[in-house]
Amino acid sequence: MMKIRDYKFWFCTGSQDLYGDECLAHVAEHSKIMVDALNKSGILPYEVVWKPTLLTNAMIRQTLNAANQDEDCAGVITWMHTFSPAKSWILGLQEYRKPLLHLHTQFNRELPYDTIDMDFMNENQAAHGDREYGHIVSRMGIERKVIVGFWEDKEVQERIASWMRTAIGIVESSHIRVMRVADNMRNVAVTEGDKVEAQIKFGWEVDAYPVNEIAAEVEAVAKGDVEALVEEYYDKYEILLEGRDPQEFRRHVAVQAQIELGFEKFLEDQNCHAIVTHFGDLGCLQQLPGLAIQRLMEKGYGFGGEGDWKTAAMVRLMKIMSQGMKGAKGTSFMEDYTYNMTPGKEGILEAHMLEVCPSISEGPIGIKVQPLTMGNREDPARLVFTSKEGPGVATSLIDLGNRFRLIINDVDCKKPEKPMPKLPVATAFWTPQPNLMTGAEAWILAGGAHHTAFSYDLTSEQMGDWAAAMGIEAVYIDKDTTIRQFKNELRWNSIAYR
Ligand code: MN
Repeated sequence: MMKIRDYKFWFCTGSQDLYGDECLAHVAEHSKIMVDALNKSGILPYEVVWKPTLLTNAMIRQTLNAANQDEDCAGVITWMHTFSPAKSWILGLQEYRKPLLHLHTQFNRELPYDTIDMDFMNENQAAHGDREYGHIVSRMGIERKVIVGFWEDKEVQERIASWMRTAIGIVESSHIRVMRVADNMRNVAVTEGDKVEAQIKFGWEVDAYPVNEIAAEVEAVAKGDVEALVEEYYDKYEILLEGRDPQEFRRHVAVQAQIELGFEKFLEDQNCHAIVTHFGDLGCLQQLPGLAIQRLMEKGYGFGGEGDWKTAAMVRLMKIMSQGMKGAKGTSFMEDYTYNMTPGKEGILEAHMLEVCPSISEGPIGIKVQPLTMGNREDPARLVFTSKEGPGVATSLIDLGNRFRLIINDVDCKKPEKPMPKLPVATAFWTPQPNLMTGAEAWILAGGAHHTAFSYDLTSEQMGDWAAAMGIEAVYIDKDTTIRQFKNELRWNSIAYR
């Protein structure tokens, strides 16, 4: 499910043909050494591909168009080793459509005090050439990332790695297809939105399918396949009967196994990567998909509850961006439920009716069967667990009527102070930055939803850069947020994004 293209990034060094063959040979040699070192660093999630030095308008235009055409190319990294007159870049940049990184670095780390002469100055003048290039990108209003620093430094390589994940989010966004097997919950405002505009801005295809078509696919799953998957669950998870009859419990679990298999088949057949459900719109399904949705999220599908297709697409997007990360801690659909307002222990208990992704879990995962407090179906089986500690990012994409806004909050996840034995759902507990009171105040002023797409593995910088590439407003709630400044930012943004 998480299989995406084997993406590569092109490394394009800018120069011009006035420098002579010897100098240009050095330029090419140096950029090859840098590309090689970046690839060998073990830090970058995707390969960098060296391209011949760009010297003329025609070469630049041809190379950037070739990058557009190459489906495996997820973006271009540009660097002006020498001076590259930036008017040469106009036509190429006008036609270029993929993520752009301007790596502002130079081949040598230190000034060679004893030997420096004008030949050296001419050959190593990124401080000069990168300003000329940066000027034209700014003048043309092209969204790009600028990373400054010495190319061998781990911190610079980590920033390139982080940007590569953003770039994957940008190029993969237009492949996301969300399946709606339920409409948005009646009367709820924040989960609504303009699906046409979402396709224009993000490339998302959001389409409805009758719930009974997917229910028929569930019905068609072979008994043996269901039994095999139930066995897998019973091996993998703790069975928390809590007084229920073991046979009856297993029958309830089997319903979710059947839903998992039927849903996955239907999603694959329709080439969809995210799904929404609604507890009040289940057609022939026997249970609200709980455990089934949790397992599908773990496999990489996006999900939103109560018809929330915006959050479903965001969860899928964030799973793509964090795909294949070493030591990944997880990404999930989440909902702000209830607070701890005890001084010094403030935070938000995060959960949902059922659907929290086990990728964020820590410790044992159990299965419980419990009644739902809403809806009219049989008691659904669900996975229960608590989540990891550490920093994460919670995002909410809202439709303001004339534009989308992405709200990005840095949060600190904590272990719950005590167990919650009567709570039959998976949870996380976090304190929003800068603290619960200011964080929640800013979130509400910005119009943020109760549903979020959450990840331990991405940063607010990555999410904000993605939003910028999509041409939408993003606001950050983090350690530096003050309400006065934040309200002004919202006020000014209402003009900037009119
Ligand atoms: Mn909900």
